[in-house]
Amino acid sequence: MTTTDLPVVPHWIDGAPLETAGSRTAPVYNPALGTATKNVGLADAATVDDAVRAAASAFAPWRDTSIARRQAIVFRFRELLNERKGELAEIITSEHGKVLSDAAGEIQRGLEVVELATGFPHLVKGEYSENVSTGVDVYSFKQPLGVVGIISPFNFPAMVPLWFFPVAIAVGNTVVLKPSEKDPSAAVWMAELWKEAGLPDGVFNVVHGDKTAVDGLLTHPDVASISFVGSTPIAQYIYETAARHGKRVQALGGAKNHMLVLPDADLDLVADQAINAGFGSAGERCMAVSVVLAVDPVADELVAKVRERIANLRVGDGTRDPDMGPLVTREHRDKVASYIDVAATDGAKVVVDGRDVAPDGAPDGFWLGPTLLDHVPTTSRAYTEEIFGPVLSVVRVSSFDEGVELINSGEFGNGTAIFTNDGGAARRFQNEVEVGMIGINVPIPVPVAYYSFGGWKHSLFGDAKAYGPQAFDFFTRQKAVTSRWLDPATHGGINLGFPRND
Ligand code: NAD
Repeated sequence: MTTTDLPVVPHWIDGAPLETAGSRTAPVYNPALGTATKNVGLADAATVDDAVRAAASAFAPWRDTSIARRQAIVFRFRELLNERKGELAEIITSEHGKVLSDAAGEIQRGLEVVELATGFPHLVKGEYSENVSTGVDVYSFKQPLGVVGIISPFNFPAMVPLWFFPVAIAVGNTVVLKPSEKDPSAAVWMAELWKEAGLPDGVFNVVHGDKTAVDGLLTHPDVASISFVGSTPIAQYIYETAARHGKRVQALGGAKNHMLVLPDADLDLVADQAINAGFGSAGERCMAVSVVLAVDPVADELVAKVRERIANLRVGDGTRDPDMGPLVTREHRDKVASYIDVAATDGAKVVVDGRDVAPDGAPDGFWLGPTLLDHVPTTSRAYTEEIFGPVLSVVRVSSFDEGVELINSGEFGNGTAIFTNDGGAARRFQNEVEVGMIGINVPIPVPVAYYSFGGWKHSLFGDAKAYGPQAFDFFTRQKAVTSRWLDPATHGGINLGFPRND
């Protein structure tokens, strides 16, 4: 079969699939096979406009749908997603490559946000003050924004969209989602599920595409806000362009997460967690640990323990229950692998080279095994840049202070972790480190749904984090009403002075 004979992943506009209009398509790969299995249409500006129009027409009736009815639909979506999450996990594995249990894990974390969204009536309640002046009351309430745009990355094709759209929809907005063109099917599957849950047509739309589709959303006059997750250079572009076009914007960017290991830490626990956080999802997680900062004298012992564990990891096709799957595309695998040479040239020691891996999978799969680099110089691009693959770097530092200084001097501030049994050191760490999400003996500190998710510095552009309390503010705007019901005896007659609260 040539790539032109492959099935096409449709857009989803106004409650129905739409096969690509226009001629541009991109192949969608099964990374474990290394072959294209589908095509996806890349929307042009007209298709984006169709989706935005559908969302704009659906907005007023959806906003004015009773809270009870909206809540019932979100509950139904939650039930359906929970019942059928196995289907979605299979879709994710077939396009992203992560192992099935990991795909199930990302859906579970997404479900948490749906569950949070079911409680929206309490979280968008207004305030009321009686008699702020004689016979005058003031109250506030929150209204949805309108059409909200969501642009998501390849690494969590279900969870990242689920960080945003359950809350956005529950509080009365309508949505146009532009998922990653590398693994687009999960978004369409969730759109079908919303329809089954009873969501009116046009409230949730999906357009596939690349920069053209993204720009269509960023500049569209009827799009009120943009929620973006992806790499830092694109996040910065999104933030600036969307803001210039008058939109509310939150743009979450890349990461380089450090794990600081103090000499009193339990090194077996640390080695286990470094493996989990470094190589889970083949390191394609924005909260993956990519640097272990080993405070003297733990490095030699820790490197030996991590190397032992890597030897037992099984890499292979995610449907065969290995520990780690392939990378998402051939280009990405090659780019990640190139950092091994960069590090070696800069003086690092390659302790385990993932290019030597023997995977349990098809020969053309996008394989790269767990890689361990030691003595990585902090001037090397292997240290300063986000690699986003299964490459774990060990950097040796002489003290807690040197470790914290290194973390704080970096470009990113997404996640970090400290491993120690010293409560005082951990407390100092959480106080001094310039990072948005911190783990204490926890390697991937992704907050639960009722705390917001987001980093500092070049890991988040904009004021609002994802999900949690901040999502309810991001997806609504407040009105304050000052009200007096006049009665002839108390209205006070004509007075041109500035209104005072007497
Ligand atoms: P990416 O930046 O390449 O793509 C993200 C989205 O932007 C996709 O929908 C893509 O189609 C679109 N896009 C790509 N190029 C564009 C361009 N030139 N103009 C406009 N839009 C464009 O990111 P990715 O490779 O899909 O995902 C991995 C990145 O996402 C990593 O950097 C990772 O750290 C980051 N990420 C961050 C978080 C977080 O919460 N901070 C979470 C997940 C992923």
